[in-house]
Amino acid sequence: MSNCPYAAPPFEDGLAISVAVVGRDERGELVITACNGPFLQMVGATHADVPTFPVTFDSLVPDGWRRALRETLKACLAPDAAPHEQACEIPDVEDDAQHWCLSLQPVTQTRGGAAVREILATGVKAVKTEKAAKAAPASPLADELQASAARYRAVVDSAYDAIVAIDQQHNITLFNRAAENLFGYTSAEVLGQPIEMLLPERFRAGHSQRVRQFANTVQMSERQVTPPRMDGSNSVYGRHRNGSVIPVEIAISKIDVNGVTEFTAVVRDITDRAQLMEQLKKQAGTDALTGLPNRREFLDFVDKALGADDVLSAFILDIDFFKKINDSYGHDAGDEVLRVLGKVGLSVMQDSNVFARWGGEEFVAALPGADANVARKVAEQLRQRIEQHDFEHAWRLEAIPFTVSIGVVTREAGERDVDALMKRADRALYRAKQLGRNRVEVG
Ligand code: GH3
Ligand code: MG
Ligand code: MG
Repeated sequence: MSNCPYAAPPFEDGLAISVAVVGRDERGELVITACNGPFLQMVGATHADVPTFPVTFDSLVPDGWRRALRETLKACLAPDAAPHEQACEIPDVEDDAQHWCLSLQPVTQTRGGAAVREILATGVKAVKTEKAAKAAPASPLADELQASAARYRAVVDSAYDAIVAIDQQHNITLFNRAAENLFGYTSAEVLGQPIEMLLPERFRAGHSQRVRQFANTVQMSERQVTPPRMDGSNSVYGRHRNGSVIPVEIAISKIDVNGVTEFTAVVRDITDRAQLMEQLKKQAGTDALTGLPNRREFLDFVDKALGADDVLSAFILDIDFFKKINDSYGHDAGDEVLRVLGKVGLSVMQDSNVFARWGGEEFVAALPGADANVARKVAEQLRQRIEQHDFEHAWRLEAIPFTVSIGVVTREAGERDVDALMKRADRALYRAKQLGRNRVEVG
């Protein structure tokens, strides 16, 4: 109302205040769900025109200048409308010298779980004073404010990143187009709703507490203050309307809106980056030739397993005379043998076991829950399957016979050192080689 160029009439004229609640019906038509006498007077109607509420705006306000009011109300109810109060003015039906300064305040109500947007319209009948009339045509402040609001809205809506603001009650006050795309809600659906609706369930409980902590530690965002950084340390998760979890990066600012503290978060979808990281992490632990876990992955696994006190056995396997295979059949054929061994090794493993490439033509297995006897049996089964060529494989050129030697080891009570464990396995393997190869030795 501050930018209304009219002054209220002198008190003795009686101060008329019109009030109405305007919404949309199921067909999207403008409806007045409640209004007072001055509002009816303002639109040139009487109580007789409204036997019951809601009443459609069109039946009450048929034509002329009132059409402009209809358009303003519709724009104000649009899902992407500015979520703050707007002002407009309309001439009085009976007195040309008088006008109504109308304030349109969008309100979001929740009905049956759905967010319903309505407008609380309040008007004051005002007479154009000479002073006000002089100031009115220029009204630079109003123009500037309007331009500034439009510019702000355009910038926010054209931003690549999602922008979400919340008020002190942690209810959403701003939700731009990118946010609508990212989270799958329209702004009308989320405005006035708690921010928690955009978080995965598991993060909801502690969120209010974190916002409060942030509020206490972070300064107001001002131009001279470096804007908050967007980096890996701010990686969190959002929740899409369809329930899926979205990895996002956020930069939060504390802002002052007319003396009230609010928070704005710029939210960036990092699904692609998160997937890439996941892929790289997987690659870092995988042997490229065989697709098996590599030495590092294996050591991590055994190290963790040794942290508990459960039974664990492991073995190390080395292909016999592998150099000769390379020499006789070629390096590519040697690679094929390594891949075959990976496949056959996996075939004797249980779900909880890990079969990995240790390096070169050496492979390792970790068998949680297996004592020395069980582990020796598994190793022996593998050795025999290879010796007897007891597996299916479509060889690229010709079938290559090969054998393996295996050193088995079982953790001693309280043994925690993975390197020591593997050294003992290596010694057992050495013995297997010494004793003629193509055999299993338990260390
Ligand atoms: P031993 O029975 O004593 O184990 O004899 P060996 O010939 O298998 O042992 P040695 O360690 O002397 O030879 C291993 C060979 O494995 C040497 C190396 O060229 C070959 N090798 C290591 N990594 C690869 C690989 O990725 N592909 C191929 N084709 N050969 C490899
Ligand atoms: Mg070797
Ligand atoms: Mg070898």
